[in-house]
Amino acid sequence: MGVLALQGDFEAHAKLLRDVGGEPYEVRVPADLEALDALIIPGGESTVMSLGIERERLAGPLRELIAAGTPVLGTCAGMIMLDRDHLGVLDIATERNAFGPQLRSFEVDLELSGMDGGPLRAVFIRAPWVRDHGPGVDVLARLDGHPVAVRQGQAVAVAFHPELAGDTRLHRLLLDIDGRG
Ligand code: GLN
Repeated sequence: MGVLALQGDFEAHAKLLRDVGGEPYEVRVPADLEALDALIIPGGESTVMSLGIERERLAGPLRELIAAGTPVLGTCAGMIMLDRDHLGVLDIATERNAFGPQLRSFEVDLELSGMDGGPLRAVFIRAPWVRDHGPGVDVLARLDGHPVAVRQGQAVAVAFHPELAGDTRLHRLLLDIDGRG
């Protein structure tokens, strides 16, 4: 299971993947995408991550991998990477740093539709929200009226950091989408 490891908190995701029985693999160049069963695009800084994707010529291979049906989870900056203006995987437009000033961080308990086990502890760090989305996008959770968790087919994106609170349910979901859970 690949974790895009150009920048951001990919190690926390790798740890949670191990916790749910997945085998994390750090992705830095296109060759790393071969034979992956799933992919996580972590949080970090979307501008820096974009530059890394461009530098390593990863955009095309990432799009192909996901178009081939590989389950993908994008968190925070990873959600931004999946939007219309970046990889174009999800039919969403995101608003960067949408919750306010640069350093605004907070935690909330968030109920995700279709997810058993009660609310998920969600850590928001200079998080985006979804400003606009097409009809094929399911909104799984909203905060202040704005979508902060969405799913379109096998692609899931959340505006927060599930990996920092140690809740493994979204990582498990990724394995389930893959049919290996
Ligand atoms: N604010 C960051 C950005 O726009 C995202 C922050 C995060 O991933 N925690 O890229």
